[in-house]
Amino acid sequence: MDKTLNILKEYFGYSSFRTGQKQIIDKILEGQDVLGIMPTGAGKSLCFQIPALTLDGTTIVISPLISLMKDQVDALCEMGIKAAFINSSLSQLEYKKIVDAAKLGEYKLIYIAPERLETDSFYELTASLSIPLIVVDEAHCVSEWGHDFRPSYTRIAEMIGKLPKRPVVSAFTATATPKVKEDIEKLLNLKEPYVLITGFDRENLYLEVRKPSEKLEFLLDYIKKHTDSPGVVYCATRKTVEMVCERLGKNGILAARYHAGLSDEERTASQEAFLNDKVQIIVATNAFGMGIDKSNTRFVLHYNMPKTIENYYQEAGRAGRDGERAECVLLYSAADVVTNKLLIENAGENADKSNDYKKLQEMVDYCNTDSCLRSYILSYFGEEESGESCDNCINCLSTIESTNITTEAQKILSCIRRMGERFGSGMVTDVLRGSKNKKLLEFRFNELPTYGLMKEYSEDTIKELIAYMLAEGYIAVKGDKYPVLSLNARSYSLLKGAEELYIKRHIVKEKEKPQKPEREVNQMLFSILRDLRKEIADEHKVPPFIVFSDATLSDMCRKLPTTHETMLLVSGVGKAKLESYGQKFIEKIKNYLVENNIEAPEYEAIKQEVRQEKKKVSEPQKDTRLITYELYTSGKSVEEICKERGLSQVTIEGHLIDCLDKGMELDYTCFVPQKFENEIKKAIETYGTERLKPIKEALSPEITYTMIRFAMWKYKESKSDDV
Ligand code: ADP
Ligand code: MG
Repeated sequence: MDKTLNILKEYFGYSSFRTGQKQIIDKILEGQDVLGIMPTGAGKSLCFQIPALTLDGTTIVISPLISLMKDQVDALCEMGIKAAFINSSLSQLEYKKIVDAAKLGEYKLIYIAPERLETDSFYELTASLSIPLIVVDEAHCVSEWGHDFRPSYTRIAEMIGKLPKRPVVSAFTATATPKVKEDIEKLLNLKEPYVLITGFDRENLYLEVRKPSEKLEFLLDYIKKHTDSPGVVYCATRKTVEMVCERLGKNGILAARYHAGLSDEERTASQEAFLNDKVQIIVATNAFGMGIDKSNTRFVLHYNMPKTIENYYQEAGRAGRDGERAECVLLYSAADVVTNKLLIENAGENADKSNDYKKLQEMVDYCNTDSCLRSYILSYFGEEESGESCDNCINCLSTIESTNITTEAQKILSCIRRMGERFGSGMVTDVLRGSKNKKLLEFRFNELPTYGLMKEYSEDTIKELIAYMLAEGYIAVKGDKYPVLSLNARSYSLLKGAEELYIKRHIVKEKEKPQKPEREVNQMLFSILRDLRKEIADEHKVPPFIVFSDATLSDMCRKLPTTHETMLLVSGVGKAKLESYGQKFIEKIKNYLVENNIEAPEYEAIKQEVRQEKKKVSEPQKDTRLITYELYTSGKSVEEICKERGLSQVTIEGHLIDCLDKGMELDYTCFVPQKFENEIKKAIETYGTERLKPIKEALSPEITYTMIRFAMWKYKESKSDDV
């Protein structure tokens, strides 16, 4: 077999290359410079890591951020590849240790911060290394036209020039504007590079634009529907970050905040908490950026509209780097346009404002288009449109229903005018609905001709109409403390009947609703494996996605491997990971199969094995189940234990059931109220012990899965006594 393909399988656990990877690897190995421009998540790291493993000597990777370096080095080490990083986070002692080992040729890759290239100690080090390849990751940092310009990047070419022998130089970025590309080639002094630009499309990203009247409510509702999914919420300002983060917290959602107004320590702490799945959500300004490589980010929700499509796609693109389905949702409101316009207006004197306005307008157009959102972005970046619908954005998946709302809009405008253009949408809505609100009566708005004019409409509908008119520019807002609705030229043109207004609503076609990720079928096993991943990650002191990606866990749920051989067939399981924790995952899968009576090829054998093992552990070790047991018997509820241990309810209950199984003291009746016992038992007898769902559906709704699970244990227990 091809050597590079072998490495891909053995170390990374993948069976095939993605678009562009093989070409780039081959060119590097042939000794040619390379410039790879591929979108986020395309798999650029592998393009230089595989050559680094193949070539003799130590590859130097220049990377702009400490956190990026750490993640990549951690990931390599987990795969059994010798790598290290050199940056300002190291102590003198650590630094010396690494340099000594490097001089002995210990490492296949060394990641280094660009600032280090200017130091004497770096040259001292390079003198004793054999360097076949230099990699410049996030190469757009060299360009002032890019969004993350780093002055030290401009010194890289000079540094390479000083090396005793010029290595192959390769550069990687996701930014593809012609100016940046030109700068990279020129400023890094690439020699006749092989340039590979792959498409910008990220098929796994679902795109959606929403215009909710209450963003916060929408957000809370969205997160509730996506529990367990790590997500980023981007806000335009620090103030909004604070507000949103606080509200999430009050609603029991674990969230951390991130913006430039916080101390370095707090920012790092927030980032770490998010990376390690200690909090579900990070609420951030655009200061939270490049350092974030968390591959299992399942959604990026923009609470405010960014100022350009470039910014938007870059930020949204942080979702789904593992290739699994992820969502990018943008909440649009007219106020965001106003904020952005003010920002441009107040920017420096000589800034190119017309260009900024143009870009802002293109962003607004994205929010308002009825056609495919993906096509819009791709054609923005100069890619040809296929003309087909992508079937993975809201516009492709829904039909748009258009309703004439001219009359309603006129009523609203007239009410705003009669109230003196001094109130917000809440008060206007109250007047239109004929509310008896005290403040309203004080102002004697009940005497206005518009009072109660729309009493047959719900509060939500009127608010939605107002929000829509705001977004479309038919109502203006003023005031900084409280937004006050007022009229503008377009309002008058509507009032005069010179134009009509239509509201557009997305009606999601039922059968074509965005597909749930495949793992949904096996959500229970997935959450068991995810909990195990977290335990291992904590033990190894790395973020969970470095142990295994979501994509890998999903693949395990599909393939249900129960042997080392079959485990290696899972995408993302290489030799080193199999050796260090493959067995633990196999155990969980076997248990799951047995408990749910799912047929696997070696089913009988597994069953036997598990039975014996269960006997073996009759003497409780200080294992994870025992920790749960102790917490439970100390008086904590299952819910509290879940929170404290960061594990799911299924897992915690599983622990307790295991304890019952081992004959440990636990009050079974706490879990199954006596009055339901017989009913559940009958259902189990009817529907069998294979699946919980049919049983749940057959029973009264107040009977929970928890009760069924425990009753099932009791049932099996009584059966095994019979034998
Ligand atoms: P980029 O630097 O281009 O944004 P990464 O190198 O971080 O992307 O890779 C993104 C994800 O894709 C990682 O989880 C990586 O393991 C995975 N990946 C890369 N190449 C492959 C491949 N050939 N098959 C499956 N997954 C891959
Ligand atoms: Mg990368």
